[in-house]
Amino acid sequence: MILPSNIDPMGSAISDYHKNGKASKLWVHSDITDKHEIPVPYLFRTYNEMPNIEQVALNKCKGNILDIGAATGSHSLWLQEKGMSVTAIDISELAVETINNRGVKTTLAVDFFEFPPKQKFDTLLLLMNGIGIAGSINGLKEFFSKCKELLKTNGQILLDSSDLNYMFDDEDEKPMDKYYGEVRYVMNYRDIISDPFNWLFIDYSTLKTEAFKYAFQCEKISEGEHFDYLARLTMK
Ligand code: SAH
Repeated sequence: MILPSNIDPMGSAISDYHKNGKASKLWVHSDITDKHEIPVPYLFRTYNEMPNIEQVALNKCKGNILDIGAATGSHSLWLQEKGMSVTAIDISELAVETINNRGVKTTLAVDFFEFPPKQKFDTLLLLMNGIGIAGSINGLKEFFSKCKELLKTNGQILLDSSDLNYMFDDEDEKPMDKYYGEVRYVMNYRDIISDPFNWLFIDYSTLKTEAFKYAFQCEKISEGEHFDYLARLTMK
C-alpha cells in the first residue's frame, strides 16, 4: 500500500521543505524514548554532509542499484551523478514526487514488499537504518525473501543499523516480550499524524545470525560513531 498524504508526516515535511526551503518540525514518538525531532534538512544532505558509513556504502555500490526507502533521493542523486544506474523507491508518494523533482530519473512510489520482481539488481541499498522496514526480527523472513527475489546471484545488500543496547542501563530494563531493537513509532508533522508502525534496529551479531538463517552471509564493513554500523550481505 502506498501512503496516503493525509497520514504521511515525513512525506509532507519533505515536500514542504523542497518547495519552500523550510518546514515545520517533524516529530517522532516512540515506546522507547522521549519524543524527538528529525531535522528535515538532514534528509536533503549532500555527500559531504553524510556520515562516513553512508559515504562508504555509496562507494561500495555497483551495477544496477535499488535505493529502498529513498526519502528525498540524496543517495540516488549522488549515484546518478557518478553515472550509475539507480532506481529510487519509497512508500511515500510525496517523497517520490520530490525525488523526481530533484532530478532522479528512475523512481517508483511503491512498498518494497510489493515491488514487482520483474527486474533484478546488483545492489539493494537501505540507508539511515533502512533495515527498519523489516519492522521486527520476525519481519526479517519476508524482508530477506523479497531481497532474494530482487537480487542477482552475485548481488549485495548494503544496509546500516544501530545497536540500541546503549539506551538501557540494565538488562532488566529491556522489554521482556520482544527484541529490544523493535520500536513502535508514530510520527507527526503539523496536524498530520502517521499510523503507528514498527521499525527495527538490529545489533550486528543478531543481524548476522538472522541473515544466516535465510542463507545470507554478512560482513561488517564500517562502524559509525554511535553504535551504528554498515553491513554488506550476500547470498550464500
Ligand atoms: N534512506 C533515506 C531515508 C530513510 S527514512 C535516507 O537515508 O535519508 C525511511 C524511508 O523509508 C522513509 O522515506 C519511508 O517513507 C520509507 N519506507 C518505509 N517503509 C517502506 C516500505 N515498506 N517500502 C518503501 N519505502 C518505505
